[in-house]
Formats: sequence, C-alpha cells, structure tokens
Amino acid sequence: MLELRGISKTYAGEKKPALERVDLRIGPGEFVVVLGRSGAGKSTLIRCINRLVEADEGEVVWNGRSVTGMNARQLRCIRGEIGMVFQHFQLLTRLSAWTNVMAGGFAGMPLWRPLLGAFSAEDRQRALAALREVGLEEYARRRVEELSGGQKQRVAIARVLMQRPKLLLGDEPISSLDAVTAERVMGFIAGLHRRHGVTVMLNLHDVAAARAYASRIIGLSAGRVVFNGAPKQLTDAA
Ligand code: ADP
Ligand code: ADP
Repeated sequence: MLELRGISKTYAGEKKPALERVDLRIGPGEFVVVLGRSGAGKSTLIRCINRLVEADEGEVVWNGRSVTGMNARQLRCIRGEIGMVFQHFQLLTRLSAWTNVMAGGFAGMPLWRPLLGAFSAEDRQRALAALREVGLEEYARRRVEELSGGQKQRVAIARVLMQRPKLLLGDEPISSLDAVTAERVMGFIAGLHRRHGVTVMLNLHDVAAARAYASRIIGLSAGRVVFNGAPKQLTDAA
C-alpha cells in the first residue's frame, strides 16, 4: 500500500543527509515500528510520507499513485487517508476535546474548515463515540489545554478514529508520556490496528515497546536502513 523509493533528504545548512536512499514497502495490516537513536532520521522518514517534509530525491507511492508529484488538492485527499499522532500531540489546545475529534473528519483540509463549526449531528455523535472508545467521554467539553499529556494523546487517537484512515503514522507518540500512560496509549494504537484494521507505522525509541507491538521493525542509523525484519530477529546488538 505504501512504497518509498530512494528517499533522500538533507536539510538546508546541514552537511550530513537526514535520509539516504531509503527504500521501504509497507503492506496493509502491518504494524511497523521504526527504531533508532536520536538524530537517526526517524522523524524525517515518517514526515516524508505525507510530505510534511519534502524529500530531495526519491518517490513515495501510495496505493499505486505517486504522492511526490501531487498538487495541493490531491495531497489533501491523501492526508485524509493517513492519520497522524505526534510527540507533542498537535491539537487545537484552546478548543474542546470534542471539537478536536470532530476536526478529524476534516483531516488534510485547511484548518478553517473544522473551525467554522459546521458539524453535523452525525459528526457530533461519531466524535463522542470515539472519545468513549478512549475513555474520555466525560471530558468532551474540556479544553485540550486543561488535559494531561496522556489524555491529550488519547484525544489525538480519538481524532484518528474519527478520521478513519487507512494508515496511521506516529512520530514518537509515547516519548513525552510516563511509562504507564505510554502503555495505555500503545494499547489504543494497537486497538486501531487490530479492531479497525488500520495499518500502523510508528517511531519509537523504546525497544521493549517495539518488540511488544511491532509485526516488523525497521532500524535506522544515520539516515540509512540498517535492519528490516521481524522483532524476534532483532538481536540485542541492533
Ligand atoms: P530522529 O527522529 O531519528 O531523532 P530526525 O529525523 O529528527 O531524527 O533528524 C535527522 C537529522 O536531521 C538530524 O541530524 C537532525 O539534526 C536533522 N534535522 C531534523 N530536522 C531538521 C531541521 N528542521 N533542520 C535542520 N536539520 C534537521
Ligand atoms: P458509526 O458508523 O455509528 O459511527 P462505527 O462502528 O462505524 O459506528 O464506529 C464506531 C467507532 O469506531 C467510532 O469511533 C468510529 O469513528 C470508529 N471507526 C469505525 N470505523 C473505523 C475505521 N475504519 N478506522 C478507524 N476508526 C473507525
């Protein structure tokens, strides 16, 4: 469903490439975890997929269509099919949890679309169902800025539920959470994968979490893929 062909990226003013000719294929139903030290290129890799970061070279192919040459309108459509969760949540903090989740139905579109507040009764019910699924129904009217980190990430997951993407990308989704909360959030991501059939690709730097959840692990080092295989093939050296 997703193919990266020869993706390279060097940020302006940097000598060393963040990514160097990365080739990857991800099939439907996989749960891929990208592991690597800080600075290995994990975040750049995830962000190149939906062009939050523009690669210098190579091609991203999504369900047979080249994302690389797409115009803004086509790209919005692709971004609607790909959900994202981030280390720092990327929610609209002044707005309620409920509104943030409803905005998931407008994923990929300009921000003013959800802010017009033109939500249907069905949107409101679906968003509430998604909040219920992550155990936050009673926080629906709370502003996001009043919630804890773990609650914020659960709102972000409810937003993904609302979006109904085919692929979920996660850029260090548990890195700013304590161990117990991180495990709970991983459980919800696993639920998206198992119960809703969403393909998952996450960056983690927690090897234990990667082993516990991944169907495949990609190891990155200095912008190159140095491991690509099942969790049980990952030796302690990797
Ligand atoms: P990781 O997610 O594995 O920590 P990143 O993809 O964030 O790695 O970073 C890979 C390399 O690119 C690092 O050397 C980092 O310093 C550099 N880098 C990342 N983002 C930027 C940026 N916006 N501008 C310049 N260099 C960047
Ligand atoms: P309804 O159609 O009444 O909203 P669903 O069973 O479709 O009920 O949805 C129940 C919950 O699961 C909602 O939170 C919805 O957003 C979420 N959901 C349903 N299908 C998907 C999907 N394919 N991907 C992600 N989330 C989904």
